[in-house]
Amino acid sequence: METFTLYREHLGQFLDVCQEQFRVQIPVSAGDGRYRFSPLAGHGVEALALEYHRTLLPPKKYFLLPEETICTFDQKGYHPVEVAEEPFLLFGLHPCDLHGLRIIDQFFSTPYADSAYQSRRKNALIVGLGCLPDDKCFCATMNTQQIMGGYDLFFWDLGERFYIQVGSEAGHGLIHKAREMFHDVVDEDRQDYLETLYQRRHLLTPKVDVADLSQIMEANPDCAVWDELGAACFACGACTMVCPTCTCYDIFDRVELDGSGRRCRQWDSCLFRDFDRIAGEVHFRSDRSDRVKNRFFHKEVVHVKQHQRSACVGCGRCQEACPAGIDVVSVLSRVHASCA
Ligand code: SF4
Ligand code: SF4
Repeated sequence: METFTLYREHLGQFLDVCQEQFRVQIPVSAGDGRYRFSPLAGHGVEALALEYHRTLLPPKKYFLLPEETICTFDQKGYHPVEVAEEPFLLFGLHPCDLHGLRIIDQFFSTPYADSAYQSRRKNALIVGLGCLPDDKCFCATMNTQQIMGGYDLFFWDLGERFYIQVGSEAGHGLIHKAREMFHDVVDEDRQDYLETLYQRRHLLTPKVDVADLSQIMEANPDCAVWDELGAACFACGACTMVCPTCTCYDIFDRVELDGSGRRCRQWDSCLFRDFDRIAGEVHFRSDRSDRVKNRFFHKEVVHVKQHQRSACVGCGRCQEACPAGIDVVSVLSRVHASCA
């Protein structure tokens, strides 16, 4: 793997070079201690929030749009909508979000390739950023605190300089567009990088025992924990909207008086009562406890069976968003303790 260093005072210049070719998106403060990914062009490099822990919405918002038109229709038939995206660069994704992206990449590529998602994904360069945890992060529990690959460049903050790993040809190309700003790595850089990893490692310890979790959940699907959670949950769907790996969407038509219209897709939530409504007012999961259980079963049992990994990456967004104070760590801990 190629590695370089970049002095902190050159980061803005480097992002300016990136802006010549890409719409650069960076984490910025949204106020109240919250953060969001936003265009660099609208803010300037001084707004770059390298200290952020998580954004309100995950990077999936760039690939699976909250709402989009899939096709239009009229008397002559259906007309596909081309996704004409300019290349963009997402700067500052933490390892948990890179894992999240990997999970939804898989969802939108097999068994059917989603052309709109794929097209946006192909247009994106991804720059990762090393991080330190806060009280809501539990990546070490879900084993997502590190990632090998899935990025074009990865930046580790060493203080006055960044240690940069190149993960792809496109990342290599980006470095060479501004090669004079980057330095070859020397022993001192390598030692400082390893020291940073060492310090970070000691802050990242698992928060809850998840050994045999999928097996425990599957063996005891009627565990009382789900009824207790169903009674507490408001079914607002905030947890699913902010989740980097939740991919539920709804398809509906907006029809004009002349019969033409648009077929749209928008984010949906398996926590909503109408999510599984079919003809005849039949619901498969009319109880909130069944819907909460379904969400956790999908992440911790179904996804593990299909892909040998949990679909929770430990980002802590759902805990931050939930008005009922439901958080994954305490749910997993209660399931582990009460359902076994
Ligand atoms: S379930 Fe919660 S903690 Fe896990 S990936 Fe989704 S938002 Fe993050
Ligand atoms: S955010 Fe909390 S209250 Fe809202 S649906 Fe999710 S678990 Fe239920």
